[in-house]
Amino acid sequence: MKYNEIKNYLNGEFVSGKGKKYDIHAPINGEIIGEFKAATKVQLDEVVAKAKVAQESWAGLTAKSRSKVIYKYRELLMKYKEELSVVNCAESGKSMEEAYAGVDKAIELTEFACSIPQLISGKTQDVSRGVNCKEERRPLGVVASITPFNFPIMVPHWTVPNAIALGNAIILKPSELTPISAMKMAELWEEAGLPEGIFNVVNGGKEVVEGICDNRDIVAVSFVGSTPVAEIVHKRGSASSKRVLALGGAKNHIIVMPDANKDAGSRDIISSAFGMSGQRCMAVSVMIGVGNIDEVYEEVITKAKNMVPGVDFPPVISEAAIKKIEDYLDYAQENGAKIVVDGRKVKTDKGYFIGPSIIDWGNSKNMSSEEIFGPVLEIRNTNTIAEAAAIQNESPYGNAAAIFTQNGRFVDEAIREFQAGMLGVNIGVPVPREPFSFGGIKDSKFGYGDITGVSSIDFWTNLIKITTKWNPEHKVDWMS
Ligand code: NAD
Repeated sequence: MKYNEIKNYLNGEFVSGKGKKYDIHAPINGEIIGEFKAATKVQLDEVVAKAKVAQESWAGLTAKSRSKVIYKYRELLMKYKEELSVVNCAESGKSMEEAYAGVDKAIELTEFACSIPQLISGKTQDVSRGVNCKEERRPLGVVASITPFNFPIMVPHWTVPNAIALGNAIILKPSELTPISAMKMAELWEEAGLPEGIFNVVNGGKEVVEGICDNRDIVAVSFVGSTPVAEIVHKRGSASSKRVLALGGAKNHIIVMPDANKDAGSRDIISSAFGMSGQRCMAVSVMIGVGNIDEVYEEVITKAKNMVPGVDFPPVISEAAIKKIEDYLDYAQENGAKIVVDGRKVKTDKGYFIGPSIIDWGNSKNMSSEEIFGPVLEIRNTNTIAEAAAIQNESPYGNAAAIFTQNGRFVDEAIREFQAGMLGVNIGVPVPREPFSFGGIKDSKFGYGDITGVSSIDFWTNLIKITTKWNPEHKVDWMS
């Protein structure tokens, strides 16, 4: 499948960028499936100025009127689910099953946005005789969302529907590796009847991100991507007085106890580590055995060895990603680890495939804290939950952590000790779903709050407090 030139979507028009040209490669075979030209700083600044005007009218509508457009958009996501899934699969390399799941998740996120009128009704109370206080949510203005390659449909739906439903205009900057889904989103918002200027897409790389951070008319920015870039965006965006929430990378740990269910546990660990070839920020990267976990260990290794490229795992996103994984396997070998399953041996004729790898570090402390973001599971051994938790705590990241056991006492201890924002018990990918909020801690997140669910309502609005006194007979002073 080839796509025509992927355009920017600026103030209701599909427009070629005037900047650098990018090719879009399909990870499944490495072929070029499309191209785009990046938006320039002038194009970005112009669309922000137009979005600022459009946002004033959009914010003037009631939340219920705005939600009618969001409902329509949700309907269109369902109508075009097949087409969106094919795009999602083509540009990111994920399986069709994962691609459908991405669209389903986008629908669920949009459903949350549809319920925003119900969620934002504020408090009101007579705080003293004749004096009433009420609060209301007001949109921020023009905001931005910068997204990574691994979930081209789902991650933009973490931010876009909520920000729009709450009365903002938004600039979406998708990954330069996967920009096609964002253009499809623009087509759907247009068909849903969203006024021009409220949803915009600017394509490009670092320069466009810098332009977003520096533009003072963009008042808030949410970022999802790797930790080094999250930190840059947080600093640079904050420097121009923006509200910034920047989600970064991860290295997630699972503690396995000797009583863990062998079949369900190994299945979940395999799917967490090697599903989407490990390119999920919630994927497990480190399995820590406490005592003798031979049964689960053997089962995980057997399953990993039998995985077939293109059937049981997809390609990774690029040749650069393969090189990074290979370099890490070299590092592990040179530093005393045993490569018990070696993904480098998996060869395909075409596409960015590398097989699942399992690195056993035993008791060695040489495992790096670096995020690999590929199909690599590292194994450590300990004798107690406290030691296992200490390994998890050493990680600079704090996205997810989980324990596999049948014993509630073990669960209590691990949950208490883990330092991560999203914890799991007998679940390999502990993603909280709406209305719960998604977000990690430590170097997995810069800024306050979470990106989805009720927490996102705080992020995309100001909470305004209004105090009124109508009856002059009430001679109250300010504290009475
Ligand atoms: P990335 O950081 O390379 O890119 C993310 C975005 O930043 C893209 O839009 C890209 O164009 C832009 N960008 C890249 N380099 C930049 C630079 N130097 N300056 C300014 N902007 C830059 O991330 P990626 O490779 O697209 O995605 C994978 C990463 O995202 C992994 O680290 C993964 O853990 C993380 N991720 C985190 C979450 C989460 O919820 N915490 C979710 C998904 C992915």
